[in-house]
Amino acid sequence: MRCKVAFSCGHTGYMQIGGDERARAGRIRWMEENGICPKCYTKRLNEERSEGCDEVTMPYSEYKMYHEGCETKKGSYHKKNKTVTVFIPRRLYDQDEK
Ligand SMILES: [Zn+2]
Repeated sequence: MRCKVAFSCGHTGYMQIGGDERARAGRIRWMEENGICPKCYTKRLNEERSEGCDEVTMPYSEYKMYHEGCETKKGSYHKKNKTVTVFIPRRLYDQDEK
């Protein structure tokens, strides 16, 4: 069932919530106290992933070939240009500088 939820981040959105009425009410209450909306979730996830990393936009094929172990920025894939933004850890470069 599609339920309206006022998330703890201050945004309001809709979520697909299953179960009976009591279970749904409990889930909604939990989301309102602890949950954040998908947009804020993506933002937070990207902030966590980018910590200590350089954000580099590159062709998807290059990412697949050289950087597959790195995290990508959620939602950054560009269908038309076939590029993706990848978080490259800075320490990979720092090691050579001394
Ligand atoms: Zn939000």
